[in-house]
Amino acid sequence: MQKGQGLGFKRQQIELEPCPTCKGKAVVKGLFYELICTACNGSGWVIRGSRLVLSSEELVTQLSFKLQQAQREIEVLQQGSSISGPAEYYQQNNRRGAGGTNFTGD
Ligand SMILES: [Zn+2]
Repeated sequence: MQKGQGLGFKRQQIELEPCPTCKGKAVVKGLFYELICTACNGSGWVIRGSRLVLSSEELVTQLSFKLQQAQREIEVLQQGSSISGPAEYYQQNNRRGAGGTNFTGD
Protein backbone atom coordinates (compact mmCIF):
# COMPACT_ATOMS: atom_id res chain seq x y z
CA MET A 1 0.00 0.00 0.00
CA GLN A 2 1.56 3.22 -1.12
CA LYS A 3 0.39 6.45 0.34
CA GLY A 4 -0.32 9.56 -1.62
CA GLN A 5 -0.47 7.98 -5.03
CA GLY A 6 -3.52 10.03 -5.84
CA LEU A 7 -4.71 7.54 -8.42
CA GLY A 8 -8.27 7.02 -7.38
CA PHE A 9 -10.29 4.06 -8.48
CA LYS A 10 -13.09 6.32 -9.50
CA ARG A 11 -13.12 9.76 -10.99
CA GLN A 12 -14.93 12.12 -8.72
CA GLN A 13 -17.04 14.92 -9.98
CA ILE A 14 -15.77 18.27 -8.79
CA GLU A 15 -18.31 20.97 -8.11
CA LEU A 16 -17.76 23.79 -10.57
CA GLU A 17 -18.99 27.34 -10.72
CA PRO A 18 -18.85 29.86 -13.57
CA CYS A 19 -15.55 31.69 -13.73
CA PRO A 20 -15.96 35.11 -12.06
CA THR A 21 -13.40 36.70 -14.39
CA CYS A 22 -15.09 35.89 -17.71
CA LYS A 23 -18.55 35.17 -16.22
CA GLY A 24 -18.42 31.64 -17.60
CA LYS A 25 -17.90 32.75 -21.18
CA ALA A 26 -14.36 31.28 -21.37
CA VAL A 27 -13.18 34.38 -23.23
CA VAL A 28 -12.56 37.95 -22.16
CA LYS A 29 -12.86 40.97 -24.37
CA GLY A 30 -9.53 42.46 -25.31
CA LEU A 31 -9.15 45.82 -26.93
CA PHE A 32 -9.77 44.58 -30.45
CA TYR A 33 -10.55 40.89 -30.11
CA GLU A 34 -11.54 38.25 -27.59
CA LEU A 35 -8.87 36.49 -25.56
CA ILE A 36 -8.96 33.09 -23.90
CA CYS A 37 -9.62 33.67 -20.21
CA THR A 38 -6.53 32.68 -18.26
CA ALA A 39 -8.33 32.61 -14.93
CA CYS A 40 -10.24 29.47 -15.93
CA ASN A 41 -7.95 27.98 -18.56
CA GLY A 42 -10.44 28.94 -21.25
CA SER A 43 -13.14 26.68 -19.87
CA GLY A 44 -15.48 29.17 -18.24
CA TRP A 45 -15.48 27.08 -15.06
CA VAL A 46 -13.53 27.11 -11.83
CA ILE A 47 -13.68 24.84 -8.79
CA ARG A 48 -16.52 25.96 -6.55
CA GLY A 49 -15.41 27.76 -3.42
CA SER A 50 -11.71 27.72 -4.11
CA ARG A 51 -11.85 29.36 -7.57
CA LEU A 52 -8.93 27.21 -8.59
CA VAL A 53 -8.34 26.26 -12.19
CA LEU A 54 -8.46 22.64 -13.26
CA SER A 55 -5.65 21.22 -15.35
CA SER A 56 -6.53 20.68 -18.99
CA GLU A 57 -6.53 16.93 -18.44
CA GLU A 58 -8.88 17.06 -15.47
CA LEU A 59 -10.96 19.72 -17.14
CA VAL A 60 -11.90 17.46 -20.04
CA THR A 61 -13.27 14.83 -17.69
CA GLN A 62 -15.10 17.31 -15.50
CA LEU A 63 -16.66 19.07 -18.49
CA SER A 64 -17.73 15.70 -19.83
CA PHE A 65 -19.47 14.95 -16.52
CA LYS A 66 -21.15 18.32 -16.69
CA LEU A 67 -22.23 17.85 -20.29
CA GLN A 68 -23.65 14.41 -19.55
CA GLN A 69 -25.58 15.87 -16.66
CA ALA A 70 -26.91 18.68 -18.84
CA GLN A 71 -27.92 16.25 -21.57
CA ARG A 72 -29.83 14.12 -19.08
CA GLU A 73 -31.64 17.24 -17.88
CA ILE A 74 -32.50 18.21 -21.45
CA GLU A 75 -33.85 14.72 -22.12
CA VAL A 76 -36.02 14.88 -19.01
CA LEU A 77 -37.33 18.29 -20.03
CA GLN A 78 -38.05 17.13 -23.57
CA GLN A 79 -39.92 14.08 -22.32
CA GLY A 80 -41.88 16.23 -19.91
CA SER A 81 -43.02 18.61 -22.63
CA SER A 82 -44.03 15.84 -25.03
CA ILE A 83 -46.42 14.32 -22.47
CA SER A 84 -48.63 17.39 -22.47
CA GLY A 85 -50.65 17.87 -25.63
CA PRO A 86 -50.73 20.85 -27.98
CA ALA A 87 -53.66 22.41 -26.08
CA GLU A 88 -51.59 22.55 -22.95
CA TYR A 89 -48.76 24.05 -24.95
CA TYR A 90 -50.98 26.82 -26.26
CA GLN A 91 -52.36 27.57 -22.82
CA GLN A 92 -48.91 27.90 -21.37
CA ASN A 93 -47.85 30.06 -24.27
CA ASN A 94 -50.82 32.35 -23.87
CA ARG A 95 -50.26 32.79 -20.19
CA ARG A 96 -46.77 34.00 -20.90
CA GLY A 97 -47.88 36.19 -23.81
CA ALA A 98 -47.45 39.92 -23.57
CA GLY A 99 -50.60 41.81 -22.62
CA GLY A 100 -52.61 38.61 -22.19
CA THR A 101 -53.38 38.32 -25.88
CA ASN A 102 -54.26 34.96 -27.36
CA PHE A 103 -51.56 34.84 -29.97
CA THR A 104 -51.06 31.26 -31.05
CA GLY A 105 -49.06 31.86 -34.17
CA ASP A 106 -51.56 30.41 -36.65
ZN1 LIG B 1 -12.66 32.64 -17.07
